Amino acid sequence: MFLLVDGYSNSARAEAISEIAASRMYFSKKTVQDVDVKNRRVLVRVDFNVPLEDGRVADDSRIKAALPTINYLRQKQAKIILCSHLGRPKGTLDEAYSLRPVAERLSELLSTDIRFMDKTVNGDVQEITRQLRPGEVMLLENLRFNKGEAENDPTFAKKLADLGDIYVNDAFGAAHRRHASTEGVTKYLPAVSGLLLEKEVSVLQKLIEKPSRPFIACLGGNKISDKIGVIDQLIESVDGIVTGGGMCFTFLKAKGYNIGNSIVEDNQLDLALQMIEKAQENEVSLYLPVDIVVAPEITKSANYKVVSAKDIPDGWLGLDIGPTTIEIYGQVLESARTIFWNGPMGVFEIPQFSRGTKAVAYTITEATRHGSLSIVGGGDSLAALKMFGLFDGVSFASTGGGASLKILEGTPLPGVEVLENR
Ligand code: ADP
Ligand code: MG
Repeated sequence: MFLLVDGYSNSARAEAISEIAASRMYFSKKTVQDVDVKNRRVLVRVDFNVPLEDGRVADDSRIKAALPTINYLRQKQAKIILCSHLGRPKGTLDEAYSLRPVAERLSELLSTDIRFMDKTVNGDVQEITRQLRPGEVMLLENLRFNKGEAENDPTFAKKLADLGDIYVNDAFGAAHRRHASTEGVTKYLPAVSGLLLEKEVSVLQKLIEKPSRPFIACLGGNKISDKIGVIDQLIESVDGIVTGGGMCFTFLKAKGYNIGNSIVEDNQLDLALQMIEKAQENEVSLYLPVDIVVAPEITKSANYKVVSAKDIPDGWLGLDIGPTTIEIYGQVLESARTIFWNGPMGVFEIPQFSRGTKAVAYTITEATRHGSLSIVGGGDSLAALKMFGLFDGVSFASTGGGASLKILEGTPLPGVEVLENR
């Protein structure tokens, strides 16, 4: 339905994003480019936590995002040992969470054989790392098959460190965690950043420090408690915030409106009011929906209607922003020079409640096409972009939902803090 006629091409956008990292203004850590990796064993923590379906990788965007660092290391003749977690196998071996399908996909993407290890640190793995040829790539089995990973156990971290001479963190999506492979390991090895981690942090940091204005944040998703820290911080740097999704009902209830059976977090009502006040004090426009698509239940067959956001009838749930809200948000987003989007505007998984999310996504890609910088974070927001065929239309899709919110909240990421300074 939407035709992406590209005035401002994908490559131009990619270049604009790369320039932010290349300026080195927003990231103070050493990267792979600052160390000599030739013939050295480089242990790289990547984020290969990808969805699997029938034993195959269902979405390889995270694998693709790690390629620049892997290719750089291959070109520099490093011996590459990749490690990652996948899912939550809770410290025991569970074939359903094996990284083997990832090794197969990575091998296709790199057009080369990957040495896949069916274990992580035990047995002859250390011996095999020493036999790697320069440029060769090895992938260890899921780190979380070991309890020591999530517990940040020093013995496990040391064993992991023994597999490399240099440690590289390129797992932005895991950098907000203090695990053996993101934090513990750095006590035993020189530790630097990968190119993806550098880019992710730089782009988000630029957003806070030097956004082109107007800077508009578009926030939705199901829970306000996940986002309140970000809203609090963003109010200090944005010009406006448009809100939707499940979280806007906590704002609407805080203002005294009837929200019917919509999702709400009653323990966040006071905070929501504080945010409304803080926005006023900072002269930030905080937009709430004026109309809402409501239904008696969240199903494909539910009958639905549009009502005023001030008066959702009892027994009905708000499941999407309404047409007037779409129009208002469209105008606000069109005028923006910088956009940060996190969280769908409605239950986009069901077609009749997807219009708000689709409209917002489309407007953001249009603004991007006209030269605005757009950053999108959050697993479901990215899934929505893909579903609408708009994924390539934004400037930057962050691979780490939780980690990107932490940066915008101003909370340091443990996995970044521990890397060597430039
Ligand atoms: P992200 O992964 O992009 O950070 P979230 O996980 O915060 O986003 O929220 C996504 C989920 O919120 C989706 O599954 C969507 O169906 C749900 N959602 C959006 N609007 C509503 C709503 N009005 N009521 C209930 N759930 C909603
Ligand atoms: Mg989500």
